[in-house]
Amino acid sequence: MSNTNKKPILKKTSSFILQTLLIILLTIFSQIGGLIWLVCWLSSKFLLKNKKKSYLAYLKIKTALFFSFYFCATFLIVPFAAKKYSNRVALPIFTENNIQPTTIWTCILNRHYVRPQLEKALFRIGNNFEKKYPDSKVSYLDANFPFSLAFYKNKGFPLLPHLSHNDGKKLDLSFFYLDKETQKSTNEKPSFSGYGIYEKPKKGEINQPKICLKQSWYYEIGKYAKVYSNEENYSFDKKRTNYLITLIIKEQSIKKFFLEPHLKNRLNIYSSKWRFHGCKASRHDDHVHVQL
Ligand SMILES: [Zn+2]
Repeated sequence: MSNTNKKPILKKTSSFILQTLLIILLTIFSQIGGLIWLVCWLSSKFLLKNKKKSYLAYLKIKTALFFSFYFCATFLIVPFAAKKYSNRVALPIFTENNIQPTTIWTCILNRHYVRPQLEKALFRIGNNFEKKYPDSKVSYLDANFPFSLAFYKNKGFPLLPHLSHNDGKKLDLSFFYLDKETQKSTNEKPSFSGYGIYEKPKKGEINQPKICLKQSWYYEIGKYAKVYSNEENYSFDKKRTNYLITLIIKEQSIKKFFLEPHLKNRLNIYSSKWRFHGCKASRHDDHVHVQL
């Protein structure tokens, strides 16, 4: 085979590999993104058949198609389909019942779906929180994907890196922080994603992260997810975080919550709902995990 014949084959193969990787990544991060890219890939091939276009022109058309389909599906179709087929509802994108996402990306990536029972519990927590702290919003982090799609050992589709967020019953909540300079309460968080800024054990406190990191690097996976941070501007708000956990404990439908042992002790938490998540999970001194 001549070199001129080899070139198009090589180009097609590398394009196929790249697109397959993209589909896998989009599926891991957003569940529906991979399928939508596949549809755009195939439809652009069909629509542009026999039309001579450069590779860049193909890519532009495919990308434009992808974003139109993706946003349409994410905000108009998936919320209804998830409710009907998976009994999962989308948590509010804009503040509602004193609840808001820590970052809009949680919603754009379809990572904000829970069982209706958990949504109601969260709204009760938000409304009760507002009574004591009217200017504070309860901010949620990763929840679950919209669709269950049990395919491995009959378990639901995991929302990585949280292996257990697969059944609509799990949700992470952000801690509260103070402006370090003024010591005033703020709703802002020290990292873009809401993860990865650890309220570390102090001298004399139990250091579970140190023990677990000897067994698994995964324990600190959250620090790779922070994207960027400005933690030097914030300090941990013990009072409001403690009140949030008090409301979590009081909420009957919440059966368990995860928090790092040193924070449990520091916040004087004595509840049978508290569990240690184990060294195979990620550490919980940057957020609190709740579940039905
Ligand atoms: Zn969690």
